[in-house]
Amino acid sequence: MSKLDGYIAEQFHIEAEQLNRAVIEQEQLKRLNELLTWCKNNSMYYAGYPDSLSALDEICTLPFLTPQMLAENHQELVCVSQSEISRIVTMQTSGTSGLQKRLYFSEHDQQLTVDFFACGLSELNVPGDRCMILMPGNRPGGMSYLIGKALEKLDAVPVPCGHDKSFAEMAELLQTQQVTTLVGSPVQILSLGRYLQHFQLSHNIKAVLVSSDYLPETVRCAIRETLQCDVYDHYGITEAGLGFSIECECHQGLHIRENDLLVEIIHPETGLPVPDGEWGEMVFTTLTRRAMPLIRYRTGDRARILPEPCTCGSVVKRMDKISGRMQQLDADYCMPVLDELLFQIPEIIDYQARYYKTGQKLYIYALAIAGEERLAEKIKDFLQPVLKDGHTLTLCCERLDETNRYMAKSLYAAKRTVIAEE
Ligand SMILES: [Zn+2]
Repeated sequence: MSKLDGYIAEQFHIEAEQLNRAVIEQEQLKRLNELLTWCKNNSMYYAGYPDSLSALDEICTLPFLTPQMLAENHQELVCVSQSEISRIVTMQTSGTSGLQKRLYFSEHDQQLTVDFFACGLSELNVPGDRCMILMPGNRPGGMSYLIGKALEKLDAVPVPCGHDKSFAEMAELLQTQQVTTLVGSPVQILSLGRYLQHFQLSHNIKAVLVSSDYLPETVRCAIRETLQCDVYDHYGITEAGLGFSIECECHQGLHIRENDLLVEIIHPETGLPVPDGEWGEMVFTTLTRRAMPLIRYRTGDRARILPEPCTCGSVVKRMDKISGRMQQLDADYCMPVLDELLFQIPEIIDYQARYYKTGQKLYIYALAIAGEERLAEKIKDFLQPVLKDGHTLTLCCERLDETNRYMAKSLYAAKRTVIAEE
């Protein structure tokens, strides 16, 4: 069983052996109805919603909440007083509207995230482990801070590192802090692994948890190979309180935090539910959130539920890894495709791509740990199968220069983007 089964059973106040689909769905309906009553009584936005449903699938009769609505109605969505809000996160919505989404969390909401993080991190940390956190937000309520709190619950030691240290600084922290596990974004961890390998620096890393970004298979394999360690994938978005789903030790998809989240996969155009196994847009409802509950929030992420049971024997629903944003995947050159090809090249640390539709020009800037002179040729070979007829490819390859602080910093500040222009 996955660690999540035990955790969810605990949240439902039952023994892990008693957990099954019927119990989970019954508890989800109970929580959904409590949420509907809470929302109806405390928020202007949800005032017209029903205060209960008689079955889980009746949720499809409720309207969707879009990022745009979240930006325009954030105050009406809030269900608690100002004094109960402990964290506000402001995020840009995608597209050109320039609207900002605003999310409000209470202490209770953040504690739920810490509890889920502790469960996920227990897949790879035992008491005494020392986990380096390559994430921003070490101030109270920030991402790194919440991960640190979760590690402390496990009697493991958080080693906050942030996301803007140079490789040399990170390598030193690994040594001096005797780090045994890592949490960071996939490419960031791969780059660190390639740096350590290139300079033949030893380490004690036994497992890593990657998050914040989707995990290309190429990158997973490369991390395993360079760091000689196990790789756990986690999916989380701010709107869902950062934690969403996590792999078990079988690595066959991500088990969903079903005690706190109700997930639906819908057809992006019709809005109707698609059967398990089929790809669609992920929509979720926060069952236990107090400050700003989201009911049927459209993520824009392309996802699917895996219908077969996981080898671990878990009864908790599993999703396939997120393959990208709905609207970006039909672009000529999307990140999942470029990632799978480019990260096969062992010298690459990171890259940026820009595609100009009108001129049919693709520009790639690649950063190498070594061998930058031959990198352009290699990239051309790797991209040949996807480069469309008549499109031109321009490359700029540079070697990582850590004496250049600007480059070392900007590597993470402006990393791995694929931008399509008209
Ligand atoms: Zn599993």
